[in-house]
Amino acid sequence: MSDRIDILSIIEDKSKFIDFPNLNQESFKPAVLSLINTLKETVSAVTQNTEPATWDNVVKPLDDASENLSFVWSAISHLNSVEDTPQLRAIVNELLAPISAVFSEIGQNEELYAKYKALKAEDAFKSFSAARRRIIDQEIEGFVLSGAELDEAGKKEMTKISAEEAELSQKFSENLLDCTNDFAIYLPKDTDRLRGIPEGEKALFAQQAASEGTEGYKITLHMPNYLPIMQYADDSSLREELYHAYTTRASEFSPAGKDNAPVMTRLLELRVREAHLLGYKNYAQVSLVRKMADTPEQVVKFLRELAAKAKPAALKDMEELIRFGTQTLNMDQINPWDYSYVSEKLREAKYSYSEQEVKQYFPEPAVLSGMFSLVEKMFSIKIAQKNVPVWNPAVKYYAISDKNGNEIAGFYTDLYARSGKRGGAWMNDLRSRRLLDNGAIQTPVAYLVCNFSAPVGAQPSLLTLNDVETIFHEFGHGLHHMLTRQTELAVSGISGVEWDAVELPSQFMENFVLNWDVMQTISSHVKTHAKMPRALFDKLVASKNFEAGMANVRQIEFALFDMLLHMDEHPHKDTVEKLIREVRKEVSVVFPPQYNRFANSFSHIFAGGYAAGYYSYKWAEVLSADAFSLFEEKGIFNPEVGTKWLDEVLSRGGSRPAIESFVAFRGREPSVDALLRQYGLLEEK
Ligand SMILES: [Zn+2]
Repeated sequence: MSDRIDILSIIEDKSKFIDFPNLNQESFKPAVLSLINTLKETVSAVTQNTEPATWDNVVKPLDDASENLSFVWSAISHLNSVEDTPQLRAIVNELLAPISAVFSEIGQNEELYAKYKALKAEDAFKSFSAARRRIIDQEIEGFVLSGAELDEAGKKEMTKISAEEAELSQKFSENLLDCTNDFAIYLPKDTDRLRGIPEGEKALFAQQAASEGTEGYKITLHMPNYLPIMQYADDSSLREELYHAYTTRASEFSPAGKDNAPVMTRLLELRVREAHLLGYKNYAQVSLVRKMADTPEQVVKFLRELAAKAKPAALKDMEELIRFGTQTLNMDQINPWDYSYVSEKLREAKYSYSEQEVKQYFPEPAVLSGMFSLVEKMFSIKIAQKNVPVWNPAVKYYAISDKNGNEIAGFYTDLYARSGKRGGAWMNDLRSRRLLDNGAIQTPVAYLVCNFSAPVGAQPSLLTLNDVETIFHEFGHGLHHMLTRQTELAVSGISGVEWDAVELPSQFMENFVLNWDVMQTISSHVKTHAKMPRALFDKLVASKNFEAGMANVRQIEFALFDMLLHMDEHPHKDTVEKLIREVRKEVSVVFPPQYNRFANSFSHIFAGGYAAGYYSYKWAEVLSADAFSLFEEKGIFNPEVGTKWLDEVLSRGGSRPAIESFVAFRGREPSVDALLRQYGLLEEK
């Protein structure tokens, strides 16, 4: 259609809402290629300028050109992750190489590197703001990591490696998404295999079948299907069937060409080669250059110490689970596909509530509006929905205003699982806060994406407690991006923040969910609109650490596996499976069947930027628990503490090291005690 919008036009005025449904996909490729060209021309102009380097003749023009490219690319890759189609996927795949190439080229450009070094050497450097000085330091570090100090052959190899890594990561995601989408179990209307499944979920399965014109039920591997089956299906063969399908996605058991094993091996080889080229022993060292943690050994030690505290608790959890399953539920043995099922029954027996009962109090609209009113109070802001063009009817947009009514940020929410949408939950940025040439402020915009169960008929989506924590988590990332006060792109919001500190504002927000006052604002029974009763709330609090030992060692298992994997200098095709088994032996209490191929779906480290970085969750949890303990000491709604959090952490972005922001807020260095206390793992002296 000729009246469709050329995506290139969205850079003309970035404050305008993107008309997502009317974007002409045919314009995507030419637009990105032309922006890549502009960026290259900008680099030439900057490097050919014979005048002394200044902020305005080096950093500023590069920021402008790369922001245009990022803005358009962010919109395209966002659509690719939430509305994947064969056409869009093909476009994205064609663009990965040129994008990776231009950033490699810039990162290795010696003349540009010299400009930044000159900026740092200038007398003027001392007069720069702390944020600008930090940006220049980080850029210089970035040049080194991109290979700017390598010889020609090294640079060429580095460029090739980056491009291939980008393609492999994309392939990893695609294989996983395809294997998730391609599997379904169809059950007839009169099936008795859905015994134990709550009515709400059965209605969802029926709706999924009906949407294909079939009677009966359709069950997929998407989370809102997989989880309830694992938790509630009395039919253990149904659970086993689904578990098998889920844990063998993108493996040698998948259709030809969909196995992620060779993708992982190749990625690991490339990462080692990259590290060696840069003069590091292994990729873990490269990954840590820009993180809070200093060395891989320090991280491994941190994880092992945590494991030593958590494993005894995990073993107790496991014993209790097995005892309950065999003695109370009369099961012969407890298999991996039984854990969730037995856990849920044990939870009901121990605390006399079920997740189903809890869900009734969490209709998604009530949770969101409650969460909004909480942060409105904490940070003196207002959040209001606004009608703007969206990519899917389920998507909403909200504007954030300050106490004077000025719009300071905005965000899209895309909360429900659907086919063609990448699994998991994440926050991403479309636009970052920045001071414009005309003196105005460009306001930040974020995407908040989750995969909750979609509404069924007229009934709103009902969230589990875990879902509620997830949306608080992602909103925490969102607030970090949106409430920033930085005016330079490279340190605005999450940009420039050390990766292992990025999860601080997000995990911090999760702490608010199990607070009585907060619960009063986020809960509203789907039928009666009653707030959650105290008795049920108390049960939730009492069960807060239910199986926390097991949950902890699971996270430690993933983190330790990731770190050790990237410390290995000689990865080969058996490395992944061998290592995951060793790590499990060391820290885990759950031992999956031989066919389980967990690593083949571990997107975080193979397709999500968490390579040698998964420990960040636990690392930042130390910070977030410790930060939250100040709120506990001074009162959870204490406006002074809220303001301090905003002033010293949220608003600072990457303008200073995360540890400085933390200390400025907490008044001291972080301590692991708050986290251990939170999980009941601290031995009281
Ligand atoms: Zn997060």
